[in-house]
Amino acid sequence: MKKPFFVLCVIGRSGSGKGTQVEMLQNKIKGLVHITTSDLLKKFIKRGGLFAKRVDQEMKQGHAVPSSLAIELWMDVLLDLSKNARGVVWEGSPRTLLEAEVMDDAVPFTTGVQPVPVYIDISDAEAKKRLLKRLVCVKCKEVVPYKLLDSHPKTCSFCGGALIRRLDDNPKSILERLRYFRRLVVPALVWYQKQKRLIVINGEQPADAVFKDFWAALKRRKLV
Ligand SMILES: [Zn+2]
Repeated sequence: MKKPFFVLCVIGRSGSGKGTQVEMLQNKIKGLVHITTSDLLKKFIKRGGLFAKRVDQEMKQGHAVPSSLAIELWMDVLLDLSKNARGVVWEGSPRTLLEAEVMDDAVPFTTGVQPVPVYIDISDAEAKKRLLKRLVCVKCKEVVPYKLLDSHPKTCSFCGGALIRRLDDNPKSILERLRYFRRLVVPALVWYQKQKRLIVINGEQPADAVFKDFWAALKRRKLV
């Protein structure tokens, strides 16, 4: 039987391993498209125009762009994908309650389905511990999978590049990111929870176990 098209939102603190989970999901589901807002914004800026210029300037200063723009950009892509892809997965969106509400309005409008929010749950303490240990490749920017850290790798397993700590993986910036999560993202999670829609996965297990739970949850909802 043909499975329905779906839109997944994978949410979690920095260090929760949501990127790894999305990758594992893509390896298993053919035609699952991963959207990142930053890719769409890059394309938007390339198109030029006054507004695009402004967005470019703001982003270069590290400022967030208006949610309305991000959502607008997703709509075109979603419309197309809902006809041609098996599903869409968003990593790290929605970032606020407002975005969650607007997505709930816009996603069914373009695709006919409601977004499915999945929360990879790790505590603040666990996030801090992981991020302080995290290593990335200077060449390909790939993050060393958490489970490989215990073997103290010296080079990137993908390209052989040198491994470094990310500049923003310092205690101050980590605390800031966790505070942001609590203040802005958690209200969106609570909102989903009130509607009994939030899929919560225990992220403090090995990646394979997290994925097993993730997969089982999607199966229960008859999405895979
Ligand atoms: Zn590399």
